[in-house]
Amino acid sequence: MIREKKSEEVPLSLSATARYDGEDVKRQLLEDQHEKCYICERKLGTDFQIDHFKSQENYSNLRQDWRNLFLACGYCNGKKSDRFDNNISPLDVNVEDEIEQRIDFNHNKASFRAVIDDEQHRNTVEMLCRFYNGKQNKRLIKEERFFDEAKQKMISFLRKVYNYQMDSTRENRDIVAEELSVEKEMLGFKYWIILDCHLKDEFINEIKWNKEWTIK
Ligand SMILES: [Zn+2]
Repeated sequence: MIREKKSEEVPLSLSATARYDGEDVKRQLLEDQHEKCYICERKLGTDFQIDHFKSQENYSNLRQDWRNLFLACGYCNGKKSDRFDNNISPLDVNVEDEIEQRIDFNHNKASFRAVIDDEQHRNTVEMLCRFYNGKQNKRLIKEERFFDEAKQKMISFLRKVYNYQMDSTRENRDIVAEELSVEKEMLGFKYWIILDCHLKDEFINEIKWNKEWTIK
């Protein structure tokens, strides 16, 4: 998960009709989110649903609220349901800075850690853990496949990063930079690989996604 940006202009059908899933809404969300699920950052293709950040069940007043609408893949949307209504908002927070996102290859699990300890951060971490690792770290078939896909993608990215570290040519750098462009998948995880490999300064311009970079 990373910070998201949303177009200022509210799609017309949200104010002109009683729907939240008009074609204009889907089109704008696809564009704003670079055709990725806002939770797992996988490319959406045709498998996408409108997710109410705060669920319709518990927040019917936000049913047509533009800032409450995101696109999620069927997997994430289905699992989130109305159980995770109190997450940190990717519109307000640099999620990649505030939640460490890693694949723990030794324990074959995804690990998440919030750098801030409050209810919203805890809730978001719990949601991500459950999506990637299943309940009590036991995975059902879909969860296993979901995790494996993420793991394979990170192995592939790690190879490219190590390649660059061992042989710092322009060409190898470009390969890593390409993987970090905003429309690519799993940037939240890639972010922590870049940090762990002490390459933050080197790729500072590539990891600014959707935010004004503030020098800390
Ligand atoms: Zn997803």
